[in-house]
Amino acid sequence: MAFEGLADRLQATMQKIRGKGKVTESDVKEMMREVRLALLEADVNFKVVKQFIKKVSERAVGQEVMKSLTPGQQVIKVVKEELTELMGGEQSQIAVAKKPPTVIMMSGLQGAGKTTFTGKLANLLRKKYNRNPLLVAADIYRPAAIKQLETLGKQLSLPVFSLGDQVSPVEIARQAIEKAKEEHHDYVLIDTAGRLHIDDQLMDELKEIKEVAKPDEIFLVVDAMTGQDAVNVAQSFNEQLEISGVVLTKLDGDTRGGAALSIRAVTNKPIKFIGTGEKMDALEPFHPERMASRILGMGDMLTLIEKAQASVDEDKAKELEKKFRTASFTLDDFLEQLSQVKNMGPLDELLKMMPGANKIKGMNNLQVDEKQIGHVEAIIRSMTTKEKLEPEIINASRRRRIAKGSGTTVQEVNRLLKQFEEMKKMMKQMTGMQGKGKKKGFKF
Ligand code: GDP
Repeated sequence: MAFEGLADRLQATMQKIRGKGKVTESDVKEMMREVRLALLEADVNFKVVKQFIKKVSERAVGQEVMKSLTPGQQVIKVVKEELTELMGGEQSQIAVAKKPPTVIMMSGLQGAGKTTFTGKLANLLRKKYNRNPLLVAADIYRPAAIKQLETLGKQLSLPVFSLGDQVSPVEIARQAIEKAKEEHHDYVLIDTAGRLHIDDQLMDELKEIKEVAKPDEIFLVVDAMTGQDAVNVAQSFNEQLEISGVVLTKLDGDTRGGAALSIRAVTNKPIKFIGTGEKMDALEPFHPERMASRILGMGDMLTLIEKAQASVDEDKAKELEKKFRTASFTLDDFLEQLSQVKNMGPLDELLKMMPGANKIKGMNNLQVDEKQIGHVEAIIRSMTTKEKLEPEIINASRRRRIAKGSGTTVQEVNRLLKQFEEMKKMMKQMTGMQGKGKKKGFKF
């Protein structure tokens, strides 16, 4: 996960100051020295670091006293606010053309993730916003690019406009927009060619496409793993092409995160999306505040909730909720819930979005063992229907049979049954606490 080193260091620094009843100027100085080092080590641009430290120091020393927070907490609040500001403050939106179609042009170096992002954005526009995008294959130089986009289009059941690799990208863009108008597509996403390095030919071509396509947005796609290079690339593209926003890809890798923290300050252009994997749904709108919160170990419950909403079947969730309320939750329901949670993505990444998760012992290096979940599923699947409904009948010989059937051990079966029993006990208690008048229950 990106930002790990930075997050660890900043959180350790914050920890020292959190409980302080009085924060002196020298406390702030000491803290700022550590924050500065942490940022530099995360590969944040040094000018950006300097400015950031100056701003935080001024605010932290001269701030008004608030009743609800300790002085230590107030300093942390300032750090969070400035970190948010550094990454752009508000979440920025995608433009919508007054007269459709809205044209979005991609740009960036080869391998940054343009084609992948084109697919992801189309997927998002269709799934979440019910739009009807047309994908345009205008990268005629990279041998497999057209095919790659066509494959993505097929996978997403979305149309891809292509004229092969013998027609100029400018002409492709022009004809694609005509077609989009005729066929009432509301978005046109143009995937352009990249190069290994910035060169004049590339820039000229992009400028020509811009001239003809008159895009409402020009996204620059950059690879977060390339650190300060990503920032330099962003600066050059912005100077020459005047981009409207940045897409930072590969934030699922262990990048130190410097690019995410410097790009906005250096280019003054917002990061609009982050790519967090190779799959088509591994795209998140960039929320500066949530990202600051994640970096400072305050969790990111909102993204977590959105992920849950996107991947959990609402009817099933309602049904489970009712079972929770009435404490009639069975092992089959437990199995169903496990598979829904698995849909949300890798568990260790999800856990890291929970506030305070980093403070739980061992959580930092936690590798959630997805195999273990597989075992739990196998155990439940090896039970008979009666056993699943009435686990109390599972005696020693049944436990042995289940362990054998699921390829696990009796200990594992015991552990699962015990956990399930405790869960049910807890549910009963909660049901008791809710009282009669309250019907609402809780959502998950
Ligand atoms: P392009 O040359 O800019 O069009 O780059 P591609 O879209 O072909 O992407 C290059 C490689 O990066 C491919 O193998 C992608 O699967 C991979 N990639 C793209 N975005 C991400 C991301 O957010 N995370 C990860 N891990 N890989 C990505």
